[in-house]
Amino acid sequence: MSATLETLRFCAFCPNLCRSAWAHPHEEGETPSALSLLTVALATGQVADGAEPRALLSRQDMAAACRAACPYGVDVPALVAKALGDIHAKR
Ligand code: SF4
Repeated sequence: MSATLETLRFCAFCPNLCRSAWAHPHEEGETPSALSLLTVALATGQVADGAEPRALLSRQDMAAACRAACPYGVDVPALVAKALGDIHAKR
């Protein structure tokens, strides 16, 4: 597993410690850890690629706002973009 996916997997099991940086209503699927989990699932073939997961992963406003609040320095939007680029490159 790449370093990108290892970091996303770590984030996927984090209880969204950065969540307090986002003061707006949101769905759980928009949280940084949810985006990380879905990205790992896509990259490992546990979820089929397609319009639906890509649409879910495009909702990154919360992850972008929470980036500075991550105590581990995880940049979810950048890592998701890197992982999606790696998936595309494998095809
Ligand atoms: S971005 Fe950081 S604080 Fe937020 S869920 Fe991921 S690892 Fe946890």
